[in-house]
Formats: sequence, structure tokens, C-alpha cells
Amino acid sequence: MIERDSKTCPRCDRELAISAFNRSRAMPDGHAGWCAECMVVTNRQWRESNPEYVAAYNDRRRSTYVKRGSQTRTIAALATH
Ligand SMILES: [Zn+2]
Repeated sequence: MIERDSKTCPRCDRELAISAFNRSRAMPDGHAGWCAECMVVTNRQWRESNPEYVAAYNDRRRSTYVKRGSQTRTIAALATH
């Protein structure tokens, strides 16, 4: 694994400190290809363009947690994310 101090994000084209990138075992340098900021933005855009998938995923998660009896905490966690 190559350790680097900084890396250029191909999406926003900025050279950023390596700490601005999420760690990723899948990548050869151990860090995600895009900076954390771009990952957040693209995740949000993906959720906005796939509302049915997200709703189904949340329903599945909710029913799993309800069975475990921690419904209140799950709803609070969903509200903050
Ligand atoms: Zn970026």
C-alpha cells in the first residue's frame, strides 16, 4: 500500500489532504477515489434519484429493529441522518 499525504479528487479536481478521503480497503492506496465531501454529495444525489430503493431499504431496516424492540431509537437515528 502506498501512503501519501495528499491526493487529487477526480470529481471536484481539488488536491486535498489524505485525511479528507474515506479509508477504503478496495482501493490500492487505501483511500476512496473521491473525497469524503464528494461521496456525501453523490450519496445524497443517488438517494434522491432512487427514492423507491431507499424507502424499501428503510422499511426493511425498520422492521428488523422493531423486532429487536428498539423502535424509538431507530426513528431518532433516522431523523438525524
Ligand atoms: Zn471531491
